[in-house]
Amino acid sequence: MSVLLALEGVSKRFGATQALDGLSLTVERGEFVALLGGSGSGKSTLLRVVAGFEAPDAGRVLLDGADQAGVAPPARPCAMVFQNYALFPHLSVFDNVAYGLRREGLPKLDIAARVQQALDMVGLEAMAARRPHQLSGGQRQRVALVRALVKRPPLVLLDEPLGALDAALREATGQELRALQRATGAAFVMVTHDQAEALALADRVAVLEAGRLVQCAPPQELYERPATRFVAGFLGGANVLEGVVGADGLVQCPAAGCTLRLDAPALPGTRLAVALRAERIALAAEGEVPAENAATGVVRGATYQGAGWLCTVALAGGQSLRVLVPADRAAPPLGVPVLLHWAASANIPLAD
Ligand code: ADP
Ligand code: MG
Repeated sequence: MSVLLALEGVSKRFGATQALDGLSLTVERGEFVALLGGSGSGKSTLLRVVAGFEAPDAGRVLLDGADQAGVAPPARPCAMVFQNYALFPHLSVFDNVAYGLRREGLPKLDIAARVQQALDMVGLEAMAARRPHQLSGGQRQRVALVRALVKRPPLVLLDEPLGALDAALREATGQELRALQRATGAAFVMVTHDQAEALALADRVAVLEAGRLVQCAPPQELYERPATRFVAGFLGGANVLEGVVGADGLVQCPAAGCTLRLDAPALPGTRLAVALRAERIALAAEGEVPAENAATGVVRGATYQGAGWLCTVALAGGQSLRVLVPADRAAPPLGVPVLLHWAASANIPLAD
């Protein structure tokens, strides 16, 4: 693999809003990167800067090693799929897809062959004569995608491509997207605010917060080793315990009323935040309390989530923990004291 896209310290400000703040990121050839972040975190701005619709205030965008400063969008080796698809309403599906190739002045026969082949690829061959308003949402999404792919760019930028689809269609279309990405060999950078989608589809997930890149890692690493409190909370809503490391290397957490043993002991005296996922905590009826990685509390709430019961357990020290009780067990009764315990490997120390 080799680097296709490199962002080096890119900043972009709109009035008082710092949309991108010294952001650096590389994307390999043929890689699928998901950009994950809350509303207003700078995801769309990042794509627009790469595509050339916005010029950065500082930093550089390199494509294939070439600085893109001053290069107009159509001249860049990338294509963008816009959030609202931005199809031409008065043009047929065929003409929408052919538009970019015609602008390049390709011979008519070549254009027809390439458009046909591209429409075949996503099962839209029978829809070529239709206008966008005669298509379903999922079909419009595929036309927008094919319009970007038909020029065979090495990099495709997709801004919430599945955002307008309903939940059932979303998952299947996401898988199709991934298959197409593999088949074409293009690198995809896809914006989403849906963490499950990002984890399911991407080779690496880049998490944005206030215009900064907070972590970029493969899905499993991001979920199991979130670097910061923000990432831990944003992905799967992990619990965060606060404590101080004692001389014995154990972490004393007063608000949770528990002592944590970490897989890798931390420096005595350090203040530490530790993420702990709801599904890693076992809930038992009251019994003997283990000295480490355990706490007692009272169940205050339990909501059914399909995969199990998501319980809120109020601990003696005042803090509440989210605990997932598997669906094959009965919902724990409210107001009843319980014992929580977990493995040392479930404690994830956070950088900040
Ligand atoms: P996201 O796509 O993550 O929701 P955006 O990149 O669209 O976020 O926007 C990041 C921030 O920059 C937001 O606060 C947004 O309001 C602001 N912003 C984006 N584009 C413009 C613009 N053209 N003019 C003024 N503010 C903008
Ligand atoms: Mg956006």
